Amino acid sequence: MKPSDTKIAFVGLGLMGVPMAKNLLKAGFQIAGFDLNKEVAEKFSGEKGFHFVSSPEQAIQNANVTILMLPDSSIIDAVLWGSAGSAGIASKLSRNSYLIDMSSSSPISSKENNKKLDQLGVKFIDAPVSGGVKKAIDGSLAIIVGGTKEHFEEVQGLLECMGKSIVHVGDAGAAHAVKALNNYVSAAGLIAVSEALNAANKFGLDPHVVNKVFNASTGRNNTTENKVENFMLNDAFNSGFSLALMSKDVQIALSFIEGMNCYANLAKQCVITASEANEKLGKGADHTAMYDYVRSQAR
Ligand code: NAD
Repeated sequence: MKPSDTKIAFVGLGLMGVPMAKNLLKAGFQIAGFDLNKEVAEKFSGEKGFHFVSSPEQAIQNANVTILMLPDSSIIDAVLWGSAGSAGIASKLSRNSYLIDMSSSSPISSKENNKKLDQLGVKFIDAPVSGGVKKAIDGSLAIIVGGTKEHFEEVQGLLECMGKSIVHVGDAGAAHAVKALNNYVSAAGLIAVSEALNAANKFGLDPHVVNKVFNASTGRNNTTENKVENFMLNDAFNSGFSLALMSKDVQIALSFIEGMNCYANLAKQCVITASEANEKLGKGADHTAMYDYVRSQAR
């Protein structure tokens, strides 16, 4: 898939979508971008090859690849299949074009979307990402891919413009399942570290020192290594990944684990904690503010 013969529609230009689209522009691709928030257009001023358009329908005109980077499956489904008052873009996508859902969506919805898009002659790929805003900016995201091997090989080069580790894990929906499970494991680590450091602090220990010990011991994880000092103990809480999205991700993971009739005790507890924290801290809270929530709950 060469930049010279590929026109991309990019729908969802938020914290992740903007840097991902910019990396595609850097590689020479042409993009028609759309987001409900029209102010994002300013973020592309001076970028060659980018046009901000006024609807998803306009974005997909003549596009052979449509990338979605939207919050969740209910929004993906509304954009594709329509909701009250709007028709949805699915039936207007070019035959043989690719629809790549890079959001962290529900694997069940993605399997369904794959089936329905296939009937329209559109090739579905789920390609959720991991690594956050920093890695989206420097183009080093981990990208997990679901879809046929043939489709994966066709889009691999394009995905490499946004990520470093591109791993094909199975058929359509498989990548969204792996992504939800990854984010559940990551959220469980965040909650555990928040609880542990808060208790250590109350005991009179220095949480910086405790985290240093974790990092040299078996408690080490992505939160202890990358979040505690940068976003949590300094009360910055600005990693760029919202608590609302984390809460959605653990809910997807729980539904998936329960759907497989598997033991899900800790996942249930993570869903409760994430949704209570999200409710208490309100819209816009970063997921690293879990530490703040845990602290506020201490008796
Ligand atoms: P975000 O909230 O910053 O961006 C989402 C964008 O979608 C917003 O700009 C919003 O205006 C737009 N939008 C919402 N509904 C729309 C619609 N109907 N049509 C067009 N635009 C619409 O979210 P984000 O952090 O960029 O995350 C996007 C996806 O990537 C989510 O599924 C998230 O779980 C996942 N993700 C995020 C991170 C991260 O660190 N932020 C990391 C990995 C994966």
